[in-house]
Amino acid sequence: MPPRLIAVSNRIPTGSPSSGGLVVALRDALSASGGLWIGAHPDPGTGLEEMEEVSGGGCRCLAFRLSEEEISDYYLGYANSVLWPLCHRRVDLVEMPSTYEERYRAVNARVAKLIAQVARPDDLIWVHDYHFFPLASELRALGLANRIGFFLHIPFPSLGDLSVLSQPEDFADWLADYNLLGLQTRGDVARCLEMYRADPRAEFMPDGTVKMQGRITSVRSFPIGIDVDHFRELAGVGGRNPFGREAPDGFVIGVDRLDYSKGIPNRFRAFGRYLKTRPEGTRPCLVQIAPPTRERVQAYQDITSELEEIAGRLNGAFAELDWTPIRYIHRSIDRSVLARLHRMARACAVTSLADGMNLVAKEFVAAQDPEDPGVLILSRFAGAAEDMTEALLVNPYDIEEMAAAIHQALEMPLDERRARHAACMEVVRRTDATRWAAQFLAALRTCMPTLSPQV
Ligand code: UDP
Repeated sequence: MPPRLIAVSNRIPTGSPSSGGLVVALRDALSASGGLWIGAHPDPGTGLEEMEEVSGGGCRCLAFRLSEEEISDYYLGYANSVLWPLCHRRVDLVEMPSTYEERYRAVNARVAKLIAQVARPDDLIWVHDYHFFPLASELRALGLANRIGFFLHIPFPSLGDLSVLSQPEDFADWLADYNLLGLQTRGDVARCLEMYRADPRAEFMPDGTVKMQGRITSVRSFPIGIDVDHFRELAGVGGRNPFGREAPDGFVIGVDRLDYSKGIPNRFRAFGRYLKTRPEGTRPCLVQIAPPTRERVQAYQDITSELEEIAGRLNGAFAELDWTPIRYIHRSIDRSVLARLHRMARACAVTSLADGMNLVAKEFVAAQDPEDPGVLILSRFAGAAEDMTEALLVNPYDIEEMAAAIHQALEMPLDERRARHAACMEVVRRTDATRWAAQFLAALRTCMPTLSPQV
């Protein structure tokens, strides 16, 4: 039996059959080791001193409750109004009342105590994402010497942007308490090492690890992926046409949480530009699925209004009585319908201004019929672009270039579509979610252990 794994993430699996690749990959790794998944309960509550068993996730899940104040200040506040914009190059959107940071540190300290109650000395602990940067430091302070790994799902911030934090030096310190720091791309690793190079406390070891005040951290990229076969199955299953009788004859699809990092207004503007210059007689359509997210945060309310305004303006200018060029759905769509839509689409537009990986890009590629595939238009600023170089790579700030890419995608000859798709599909398979988890865990098991935590 491999060492027991404890995974920690903000969300825990809820047992929905529509789970994404991360859930499948982690659940498999957890059940193989008799492990535990620890995360926040979906409902706020009291009883903050203990965890509850939550059933339905396919592995043993323990949940801690967040109070209403913690949701406001830790989750919507520090995590999503400081760290999220910071890591997505939008420091202009950072809001930082002091209660945000205090509550963020306090929640991490509390979660560490709850983990310490259940952890055994030889457990591997795998912490996920920006909600928990200081968790290893808190665990070390409680005396835990376990191997602890961290995976950051979003981009690593640039050195310049880190200086907006009230104590930027704490950020490098928090990360130094992990034995393994996993990032999405080689670009993220380069930014992380730049941070350490600028820190007089850090030394670079001959094996490429970073040593800071006696703690050794290995920094590596592990590009995340999807459950490829499952998504292909969902896409390939016949059944009802999601459009009913109203199916557009060829369309571009966009699927994103309605987040300012996804560049959806830029995409709409580019589609508007394309509509102006499109080949005569064509009636292209952009189908945009954009479920709401973090609606209590002002920046998300602003982007929602902006998008509604642009969609309304473009449809007003271009629609005919029997043709609506932009179909914008501001709700979540079931994954099986999404997979069908991807397969039917002639192109997918991923136009992120910053994005850790972008799984939608991989899902679109996986969903295609290799004999007659659609074309992926992919922002250079999505992590996926580092390896998926045969997608049509675009600069999402350049509206004309994106309009030209939409034209090129919709007119692309079959041979070229097949060749580009095959190259992208090779990347999607190589970075499958199960392999991703196995590679991270293999690295965590063999990295330099912590000898004496500073209690
Ligand atoms: N997704 C979904 N339903 C929706 C919109 C998105 O299930 O209505 C899924 C999508 O298929 C993908 C994930 O949400 O698996 C989004 O992951 P991605 O890495 O693209 O972006 P993130 O939302 O994590 O920033």
